Amino acid sequence: MPISTAPYKRTYKHVSRRGRESLVKCDMCGRYVPRWKTFVVVKGFRITDPYILKQVDKRYIHMLKRKLRVCPKCARFYGIVNPGKSVRKSKKRITQT
Ligand SMILES: [Zn+2]
Repeated sequence: MPISTAPYKRTYKHVSRRGRESLVKCDMCGRYVPRWKTFVVVKGFRITDPYILKQVDKRYIHMLKRKLRVCPKCARFYGIVNPGKSVRKSKKRITQT
């Protein structure tokens, strides 16, 4: 499970050049989505035991970290981000009526 920091700020950056933007494969579902739409999740183990930390090489710890690119659909599903304001409003309306 990725560590979820629920109010996630999206770095909504486009590529400087115009036109077709690079597509990235989502690591969760395998869909192709524009790169600027994806969320980056760092997945990895955390070794908390100081005894093991001394024995294991620092380079090896870096290897354990992995960057995952997640499409907005999966990000919502896995709780990486909260749904936007517009979604929350419409949900409220449904529950009230
Ligand atoms: Zn996905």
